[in-house]
Amino acid sequence: MAVHDRLLAHYGPQGWWPADTAFEMMLGAILTQNTSWTNVERAIASLRADGLLEAAAIATIVGAGATTGGTMDLATLIKPSGYFNQKARRLKAFAGFYLAHGGESGIRCLADPRQALLALHGIGPETADSMLLYALDMPVFVIDAYTRRIFARLGETPPDASYAALQEYFHARLTPSVPLFREYHALLVAHAKRHCRKRPLCAGCPLQKRCAHARGAAGALDGMPPDDFTAHRPHATTGEAGDPMPDAAAPRRGRHAIHGRPWPGFREG
Ligand code: SF4
Repeated sequence: MAVHDRLLAHYGPQGWWPADTAFEMMLGAILTQNTSWTNVERAIASLRADGLLEAAAIATIVGAGATTGGTMDLATLIKPSGYFNQKARRLKAFAGFYLAHGGESGIRCLADPRQALLALHGIGPETADSMLLYALDMPVFVIDAYTRRIFARLGETPPDASYAALQEYFHARLTPSVPLFREYHALLVAHAKRHCRKRPLCAGCPLQKRCAHARGAAGALDGMPPDDFTAHRPHATTGEAGDPMPDAAAPRRGRHAIHGRPWPGFREG
């Protein structure tokens, strides 16, 4: 939680994910594969302009013409998102699945919604977990390339840790909470864009004092006294287990409030 608290104090609440409906969120989770959200917004705007932001509409346009050009029609509309032929097929598969199970409420009631999503064409762990967290209100931590990069640089997790191992790192340390997981993921994205880029901008980074990468950078931070994070690191651990980062290290006042309300189910340090 110490990383989360620092990022929240630095960047403020992020308020993700921009979408009018759960289905639109799930659509966005597919469209955002291998592209930026700006491109997804353009694709969604095209779908909205054609009245296609509903599962039945997507299923109709692709289902009616999968062998006669229907898929290409959808592909043309979502062209700004890249990989548009592939994504059109994925949208088709997902829309059919969504309808067959009676929408998000039906999917939520499946014995294992995650496995059901993963069984669909073109839906991997990150996409499935984004759907579960943002559209189905299920407390599943989303792992993306930004999360992997930041926590590897911090020295918390191996850079080549598996998706499942990284996810377990967070699940083992956080009380399951949809608002918390959403906000934490959004904060990591914001941090990766503003500071922890491919080429990191470490000056002014709110995590600098606890960052292994910064400490190792040409000895630039040698002699820097440990702050409350490092002072409370209990011990070195192996593999993806990392360090539990006691919540007690974070400031108390207002630390878990989002939009003025405490997060439900949050475990106080
Ligand atoms: S100090 Fe640099 S490498 Fe470390 S988290 Fe911040 S931006 Fe990333």
